[in-house]
Amino acid sequence: MKIIDLLNREQLSLSFEVFPPKTETAFESVKEATEEIAKLKPAFMSVTYGAGGGTSKYTLDIAKNIKELYDVPTLAHLTCVSSIKETVREKIEQIKEAGITNVMALRGDIPAELMDADRSGWDYKYAIDLIHELKSANADFCIGGACYPEIHPESATQKDDIKRLKEKVDAGCDFLTTQMFFDNNLLYNFLYKIREAGITVPVIPGIMPITNANQVERAIKLSGSFMPQRFKSLVDKFGSSPAAMKQAGIAYATDQIIDLYANNITNVHVYSMNKPDIAAKIQSNLSDILGK
Ligand code: FAD
Repeated sequence: MKIIDLLNREQLSLSFEVFPPKTETAFESVKEATEEIAKLKPAFMSVTYGAGGGTSKYTLDIAKNIKELYDVPTLAHLTCVSSIKETVREKIEQIKEAGITNVMALRGDIPAELMDADRSGWDYKYAIDLIHELKSANADFCIGGACYPEIHPESATQKDDIKRLKEKVDAGCDFLTTQMFFDNNLLYNFLYKIREAGITVPVIPGIMPITNANQVERAIKLSGSFMPQRFKSLVDKFGSSPAAMKQAGIAYATDQIIDLYANNITNVHVYSMNKPDIAAKIQSNLSDILGK
């Protein structure tokens, strides 16, 4: 099932993201967690790709397992920046062989030590290069791309970032998923700008439930996201009490999703981070709205 064919529903639907284990020893526990999430029957599940490709085998193993056992459509992430053509082509063949039709085409983060390196000889510099590769792979992939309501950290201006995004979409992105954000107005503003720039593909907002205080710093570092005062107050108040912080973080994410749906956004991706209890709680908070 192609993800693009799931995005035209009028009712709210949720998708969940999981990440593969880094080691063989962790495989079984991660597999179990992802299966628990699959039992919630989300619209689809995405499986991330380890930075530098370290967990690439597990990405496909997890995606294939969810699809085959639970009949949940899966989206396999793939990055390109640290790879050579031969490796990427091999990975694309493996995705085809696994029967996975949805691929999230990402550049990946540039390792800190290569940030100032001469990139002219690299096989892949941007996600668009991977999209070209997927398009010429003789497979009818449904291709997703990443976008950044608060600008990608390497872009000088939002105008530049949106110009590059348009090129990426024109190269063959069927849909986009956003970086996490904690203020929905930033998303609405971004949507307005990209639609004006002629980007018309569906955009799936990505919502990250922050359920413990330690996550806050990491999330900001990773995404550069703006933390509204309302969210900061919540962390101040509940950050030292794990159970209360978890409840408040889930409520905040639920609230963001309700507001998105009230503004006619029907597909929301939840960064559920291999936590079935959090995915289940968000889903049950929205049960009447989801009709589940
Ligand atoms: P690009 O689209 O290539 O953009 C990167 C930067 O380059 C932007 O500033 C863009 O404006 C600029 N740019 C693009 N094209 C050009 C051009 N032709 N010339 C000049 N500048 C250009 N990382 C992982 O390692 N694994 C994952 O599974 C993963 N999943 C993700 C899922 C989502 C939804 C998101 C939002 C991010 C994810 N990431 C993942 C992180 C992502 O790899 C990084 O954010 C990375 O830095 C950028 O990837 P991209 O695909 O957006 O890159």
